[in-house]
Amino acid sequence: MKWVIVSDNHNMKNILTDIVSVHEDADLFIHLGDSEFDYHDPELKRYIKVAGNCDFGSQFESSKQIQMQHINAFITHGHLYQVGRNRERIAEAAALENCNIAFYGHTHIKRVETIEGVVCINPGSIAQSRSADTETYAVFTVEKENQIITFYNQQHEIVDKEIVLL
Ligand SMILES: [Zn+2]
Repeated sequence: MKWVIVSDNHNMKNILTDIVSVHEDADLFIHLGDSEFDYHDPELKRYIKVAGNCDFGSQFESSKQIQMQHINAFITHGHLYQVGRNRERIAEAAALENCNIAFYGHTHIKRVETIEGVVCINPGSIAQSRSADTETYAVFTVEKENQIITFYNQQHEIVDKEIVLL
């Protein structure tokens, strides 16, 4: 199982379709918001998407749940849960929905942490990093019982990789 997770491209063109073409074998493409594209923009076509604070249009939902194999994921942009402060509220919201993992964006800081039993993952921003890390997106893979999160830069080179314990 392979999911590609992207966030906060903030109107950067072509990168979303680029990512799709590099990871054609993925089961799912997820956009965590702040593309600043129209809901029906062709660049977003392959992505399951949620609303960022810079996205407009009532078709965008604020959060979604995705279930595949033993993964039950809560996906949301993060601004509604004050993720810039800490990830307690998003972890709580995910746990209430019986999710074991939460994907969020908004902070433009790539991060993996476990809070109250929920693994909270931010793929970083593919357009504008706000940390010492470069601009990134993430690929989440599950093989048997092993989950791995891999971070890629704009050139689709691996910059970081971590085992995710659920
Ligand atoms: Zn945002």
